[in-house]
Amino acid sequence: MSSVERYVYFFGNGRADGTAAMRDILGGKGAGLAEMANLGLPVPPGFTISAKLCIAYLEEGTFPPALRAEVDRHLKHLERATEKGFGNRENPLLVSVRSGAAVSMPGMMETILNLGLNDQTVEGLIARSKNPRFAYDSYRRFVQMYGDVVFDLGKEPFEEQLATAKARRKVERDIDLPADDLHDLVHDFKTMVKKRTGHAFPDDPQQQLWGAIEAVFKSWHTRRAKDYRQLHNIPDSLGTAVNIVAMVYGNMGDDCGTGVAFTRDCRTGENELNGDFLTNAQGEDVVSGARTPESIAKMKRGKLSKIYRDLERMATKLEKHFKDVQDVEFTFEQAQLYMLQTRRAQRTGVAAVRIAVEMVGERLITEDEAVQRVPPQDLDQLFHPMVDPRASVTVLAKGLPASPGAATGEVVFDADDAEELKKKGHDVILVRPETSPEDFHGMVAARAILTARGGMTSHAAIVARGMGKTCVVGAKELEVEPAAGRFRVNGRVVKRGQIITVDGTSGRVILGAAKLVTPKVGAHFEKLMSWADGRRRLRVRANADVPADARRAREFGAEGIGLCRTEHMFFEGDRLTRMREMIVAPDEAGRRHALAKLLPIQRRDFEGIFEAMGGLPVTIRLLDPPLHEFLPDTREEIAPLAKRLKVPAAQLERLVESLVEANPMLGHRGCRLGITYPEITEMQAQAIFEAACHVVGRGSKVAVEIMVPLVADVRELVNQTTIIRRVAQEVFHREGRAVPYLLGTMIELPRAALTADEIAKEAEFFSFGTNDLTQTTFGLSRDDAGRFLPFYVEHGLLAEDPFQCIDQAGVGKLIEMAVKLGRNTRRDLKVGICGEHGGEPSSVKFCHRTGMNYVSCSPFRVPIARLAAAQAALEEAGVVNRTRATV
Ligand code: PEP
Ligand code: MG
Repeated sequence: MSSVERYVYFFGNGRADGTAAMRDILGGKGAGLAEMANLGLPVPPGFTISAKLCIAYLEEGTFPPALRAEVDRHLKHLERATEKGFGNRENPLLVSVRSGAAVSMPGMMETILNLGLNDQTVEGLIARSKNPRFAYDSYRRFVQMYGDVVFDLGKEPFEEQLATAKARRKVERDIDLPADDLHDLVHDFKTMVKKRTGHAFPDDPQQQLWGAIEAVFKSWHTRRAKDYRQLHNIPDSLGTAVNIVAMVYGNMGDDCGTGVAFTRDCRTGENELNGDFLTNAQGEDVVSGARTPESIAKMKRGKLSKIYRDLERMATKLEKHFKDVQDVEFTFEQAQLYMLQTRRAQRTGVAAVRIAVEMVGERLITEDEAVQRVPPQDLDQLFHPMVDPRASVTVLAKGLPASPGAATGEVVFDADDAEELKKKGHDVILVRPETSPEDFHGMVAARAILTARGGMTSHAAIVARGMGKTCVVGAKELEVEPAAGRFRVNGRVVKRGQIITVDGTSGRVILGAAKLVTPKVGAHFEKLMSWADGRRRLRVRANADVPADARRAREFGAEGIGLCRTEHMFFEGDRLTRMREMIVAPDEAGRRHALAKLLPIQRRDFEGIFEAMGGLPVTIRLLDPPLHEFLPDTREEIAPLAKRLKVPAAQLERLVESLVEANPMLGHRGCRLGITYPEITEMQAQAIFEAACHVVGRGSKVAVEIMVPLVADVRELVNQTTIIRRVAQEVFHREGRAVPYLLGTMIELPRAALTADEIAKEAEFFSFGTNDLTQTTFGLSRDDAGRFLPFYVEHGLLAEDPFQCIDQAGVGKLIEMAVKLGRNTRRDLKVGICGEHGGEPSSVKFCHRTGMNYVSCSPFRVPIARLAAAQAALEEAGVVNRTRATV
């Protein structure tokens, strides 16, 4: 560190050396204090030691020589500003020492209050305040916090002694302890520190101060701080600043107090100041739970009303300045209010939308800013019940938040069981090691789905998202034992019938019935979406397989269907039997016979979807999955099927066995099915064109797009399009009318991307199947990757799960290349994406930048994609979000 570099920044008395823009140096807390001081808000004076020093100190173990003099100089300045003396026996200056990194790390770092007290200065405090109880309360708090933070003794030994003192006095609250008891506690605390550490508690304020500064810097390297940073992707290199601020006292009597406030309600977004406070208390009492704080609304009337009005004024001023909702800490000492911290308030999705829209109305921000302000992902919360943010819950495990919302119900381990209990009116949660199409009816019956294995594109995740059903997958700590009717998790056993809550928004598995709340979607949401729609270039479609999903997709604003997975139509009851009949048929004639029974079912579904979409484009994908997915896989299941199909069970068993593939995702699936069994493609094409003709015949419009999956070579595509075109001509001839249609392909194999120029000779559109493209580019199975991918992400080998966010460096490169190659061949090639990434904001923005025409995602994520697409357009246009970059 160079000798000219500045280490310390002063604030107070209406001015500051720093500003809100200096978060990297001052940390969030220091930047907020500086900005508030500059704004003329009542901030107690103080100074901030640069966060830049933190890492250097941790590496070298010493401070630069110039620091001491710089701190001394600022301490003198602070003495002048407060007209008190640090270590002065008559009129002692006491300070708080608090950490604060550029990024908020709640509860991770350290705070020490009332530093500067010793047996001499406490007398000065008594003389000035004429309040020995206050002085000794401050003193015991100081020794307690210092012992915890600097001597690393933890909170417990102090809390134990405090509890003993209260028991002796037969009182429950700290504030009921008289001065004498507090005086004795200080003595007891110090004795305990000496006994445990072998060091006397430091009486010299200078020694106290430097001990505290070092402890704050060192706290950057504690285990919990490191873990927190890892979890939230906060770089270790940031370091924390140290804030040294003149104490103001909330514990000097009943006309003093401390609290936290939000300038608006961050659960609902309502424009009302709210928060909690305690009288006769210091900061940590509000959060520690030792006393129950009261709502600040109580301050409106009575002797604290002036403080309340002051607080309101501050709130308005802060919002006007920062153009966002603030979360503030305050203390009042008799008639004077002090602001101790301000930062951008965290909020729910509902609140985010309402606040952004109302702030436009209040002319605080522009429409562009409102659109940029709301994190698209947070819109998820608007359509689902959620666990009440205020509820305290027992978390059993955490998995991947595969499909949002929250649901409570009885644990069941089997799809049939789920269905039975649902029929009897029970709410059930289906818990499986993983799901397969066999479990579909159980998933329909369940309120939520929980699996121990699988990633964000596993069967459970995709199906649940499509249904808008809460789902957590890959909860690794769960040992699910369906046969025994229980799961084990971290030493607990949860049995069939026990109640749990699954939180698909956070990935939490909660024991018992957590309190759920359902947010209201209303005019604010509509308004925000109308602004977003007016700004985006990307179209947004939905992945929907049945008419009900298609209708829901339109309600969410989908402008078409980008992926109709036809296999999902076959998973239910009667249809599954017909499908199985087709698969086990010994020859083509047998297959055609079974397919003929499936034809009217498919046609009906397609008619429903076309009608629901009223002329918007509908991309139907031909059958994709490996055939064995439709077959039963245990003897008990095979026997009844054999009976129904009138084939010997042993024969069916052999057949099932012959269909099993070691790596089915790279096996006999996708267009390979239609190529080897052209009658399947014929039947599907027939059903699609007949449905389209019927719907048009009834006076509606249709826009048909047929998509061939898993193409690696243009010849495969030509093979399939030849069949489809032939069938189209036959149907049009029979029906006496023709409907326009497009033929395209999915790009979901690297070879398809590499030869996209060739493929575009045949394909009129591309739809990137990024689920498969990710798995094949990485060479890792999307169903099994959940076993180790989280480890990769935790340890920084991957920044994010590539099945959730497009891996722009690898998979993204293939996409960019394929778009270019494809459009070189066919200038008007329509390009979209239909993998799960189509509803993930950073991926949507990537799709915008590559020039795609549309993204397609599950219906519930359509609004997220709409908003993300608008943000991408604004980013591209260089529209700057003026929201101040602080705190
Ligand atoms: C894909 O691979 O991205 C895709 C949409 O197809 P599926 O998930 O059905 O394999
Ligand atoms: Mg695919």
